[in-house]
Amino acid sequence: MSAEILDGKATAQQIRTELAEEVRELTEKLGRPPGLTVVIVGEDPASKVYVRMKHRACGEIGIASEVIEMSVETTTEELLATVKRLNADRAVDGILVQLPLPKQIDEQTIIEAVAPDKDVDCFHPINVGLMMVGKARFLPCTPAGCLELLRRAGHTTRGKNVTIVGRSNIVGRPLSVMLAHRGEMADATVTVCHTKTRDLAAECRRAEILIVAAGVPQCVTADMISPGAVVVDVGVNRVEDTTTKSGYRLVGDVEFEGAKGVASAITPVPGGVGPMTIAMLLTNACTAARGHLGV
Ligand code: NAP
Repeated sequence: MSAEILDGKATAQQIRTELAEEVRELTEKLGRPPGLTVVIVGEDPASKVYVRMKHRACGEIGIASEVIEMSVETTTEELLATVKRLNADRAVDGILVQLPLPKQIDEQTIIEAVAPDKDVDCFHPINVGLMMVGKARFLPCTPAGCLELLRRAGHTTRGKNVTIVGRSNIVGRPLSVMLAHRGEMADATVTVCHTKTRDLAAECRRAEILIVAAGVPQCVTADMISPGAVVVDVGVNRVEDTTTKSGYRLVGDVEFEGAKGVASAITPVPGGVGPMTIAMLLTNACTAARGHLGV
């Protein structure tokens, strides 16, 4: 058996086409395009690639996107001043501060400084709280991307045993909350694994849907997957590969070749969750713009 490949790239493209229409309508009503500003501090090569991809994706569907590049020596106060200026700018509907930030900057202070109605990453405690109680204004992009990819491929989570590997604030924990809510792409029985989990392989094997966000290259192998399970691989890891021009290649947290012989469906890396995360960011930018219109 070879698993169905859950094509995040194609699904994200479909979402972007749908959003382009919404952006056209919003532009008419607002008298300006929806605006998203991304702030990047420092020179982290992976962050630079992500920011470029987000900027390009905005441009393709008519969202006005600005990238503010700040030096690696930026202080918390300097970044706070930039965020406050963007909070007050009426042409900016969404603000995204690319993480991770250099170590001298207090990340939580910055997250809490972004105006909640512009917090398209859904990291502000107010938005996390709203999501927690089932009244979400925005959904966090990567968890929402995982669920939207499953939904559009016809895989419901309702009543399923879902195991998540990872409990970060960005992926694992919000995903576990969303899956435990009521609803079509929720209503799951959720197990959350982390580095203190006693028997990771056994917890993974219990999953009908296995979502892996550990940040450890290929840590989930075929023997840890129940035959017929659906596997979502969130991991993006650079591993050395001297046969490529860049000297590295991207792999997920799941050993893909082995896993696809056991799973019924699986996301590739790259081309799975990554493009869906960007599509959900664009969705949130439209939600923010709609909020500023009051519709
Ligand atoms: P993170 O903050 O480092 O969190 C990793 C989580 O995995 C932690 O909860 C950790 O447990 C757990 N973990 C690590 N090794 C483990 C192991 N051997 N067994 C069980 N649990 C383990 O990472 P993250 O930000 O959530 O990101 C995870 C991965 O997803 C990374 O590869 C990242 O690049 C990728 N990512 C992709 C996208 C996308 O759009 N595709 C978006 C975000 C992140 P403890 O809590 O016990 O330390």
